[in-house]
Amino acid sequence: MKYYILFGPPGAGKGTQATAMVEKYNLHHISTGALLRKEIAAGTELGLQAKALIEKGCLVPDEVVEGMIESEFNSVKGVDGFLLDGFPRTLPQADALDAMLAKTSEEVTATVSIMIPDEMIMERIKGRALKEGRADDASEDIINNRIATYHNQTEPLIEYYTEKGKYNEIDGIGTIEEVRNRIFAVMDEF
Ligand code: ADP
Repeated sequence: MKYYILFGPPGAGKGTQATAMVEKYNLHHISTGALLRKEIAAGTELGLQAKALIEKGCLVPDEVVEGMIESEFNSVKGVDGFLLDGFPRTLPQADALDAMLAKTSEEVTATVSIMIPDEMIMERIKGRALKEGRADDASEDIINNRIATYHNQTEPLIEYYTEKGKYNEIDGIGTIEEVRNRIFAVMDEF
């Protein structure tokens, strides 16, 4: 099985590109953000807890997302691999992922990182807010907190995967097709 991590700041275009990636490489897309929003919409206890954190631009506890990921790994069949979108987002989550895969003697295949500058994050999220109406896209304060959370907690993963020789960075500026072709060029190597 292939295990790709789709990495990048909020608004980098991960969700948009994920659709094309899963189709071309027969992967199952796991978006922790989408799974959490599903729990919120269903009004589960987990959803209620997550809602308060997400709407402040904070992360939900590591154990919560780790549990969601493991249950997807165990339940999805008939694919050539997984595309992890929004996970891991902290160093402990990266360690937990390695431990999960080690149980079946597997490992992360590669990290595909879509990079855009901070100024563009705000612009893109505001554009998305008009279309999708996500609560965590609603105010500049929340978006700024998500950008800060990304820099503090998620960015250290760049070094983590670079040291393992698994970090591949892609320029996220350009049209959807241009960025998609850059991603495919990297994924074709694995
Ligand atoms: P974006 O990539 O635009 O920031 P996501 O849809 O991936 O948005 O995530 C939305 C929110 O869900 C995050 O801001 C965070 O609160 C929560 N979340 C998603 N993935 C994780 C994770 N791996 N660990 C902790 N919280 C997460």
